[in-house]
Amino acid sequence: MRNALGLMLATVVSAAVIAGVWFWTSSPRADAAPQTVAARKAEPLPAAAKSKDDVEVTASLTKPAPPPAPAAPVAAKPVCANPDALGVSRTVIIDTTGGPGFGFLQYKQFDFLTEKEVVLTFDDGPWPTTPAVLKALADECTKAVFFPVGKHTTYHPEILRQVFVAGHTVGSHTWSHAHLDSKKMTEAQAKEEIEKGFSAVKMAIGAAPAPFFRFPGLGHTQPTLAYLGTRNISMFSVDVDSNDFKSSGPDQVIQNVMTKLDKQGKGVILMHDLQKHTATALPTLLRRLKAGGYKVVLMKAKVQLETLAEYDAMLVKDLKVPTVASRPIASVVQTAQE
Ligand SMILES: [Zn+2]
Repeated sequence: MRNALGLMLATVVSAAVIAGVWFWTSSPRADAAPQTVAARKAEPLPAAAKSKDDVEVTASLTKPAPPPAPAAPVAAKPVCANPDALGVSRTVIIDTTGGPGFGFLQYKQFDFLTEKEVVLTFDDGPWPTTPAVLKALADECTKAVFFPVGKHTTYHPEILRQVFVAGHTVGSHTWSHAHLDSKKMTEAQAKEEIEKGFSAVKMAIGAAPAPFFRFPGLGHTQPTLAYLGTRNISMFSVDVDSNDFKSSGPDQVIQNVMTKLDKQGKGVILMHDLQKHTATALPTLLRRLKAGGYKVVLMKAKVQLETLAEYDAMLVKDLKVPTVASRPIASVVQTAQE
């Protein structure tokens, strides 16, 4: 009897989910609008809802919410424990079609930040210093965009997974941090650096990365920009460079950022989660941003990047792991009980 009830409940939930997916896929979208950057209010992180019979409804299928399923409790809004937190003032969804660029140092097309708005970005991880960066961000209930190096994700996949699970946006910063504007770099090698970097991120986080890319040393070329355009990958430059990699200590990182920011008023801030000084400086830096009236904007992609199978396979071969290892962790290991 209990089994029969469970089956009925599961059927109802499935029907609700299917209806939700149908609604989502058949809803008219504002795709035709030429505006590339669509701002919208910060959305609460959709928590997985569980019915009393443990029928799990995944976050992706519940967005937007399907017709309410009976017995499914209302998902609680995540609470920030710090009432004075810096937080996230708004989340913007980026349509990366054609590869729009951000950061006025190199790309001046899309001036979407208003006065006092900043985007926090971190390059070169994941690294053992990254968890301290994550903690500082979590303590301030704020979010950032990460540009990991492919090779580093193979050393510390679990750290990148923490970045992803915490709700930060994860793009890529090439496979091996090669400078793509080097004279020795062929087009095929540049393509491999870009694609394998994204494949490595996907392997680590078990999900498609955001089509957000930052050139190592900000070294772009016309062919690589054109290639990213064909892949609908956005490139990120910088407005405020922390110069953390050549700072003498945490205080200098803070001073670099605040001095430039107070002069420019807003912008994409470049930092490195691999730098110890940055990890140490971050709690104070985030407090200074809050005190200075700055607001954090989180950038997310409208559509995630589909990695190329050829490069996923190349990565698996390079790492000399069985092909099955390329399966996302979540499809292999599932928590049955906590
Ligand atoms: Zn870098």
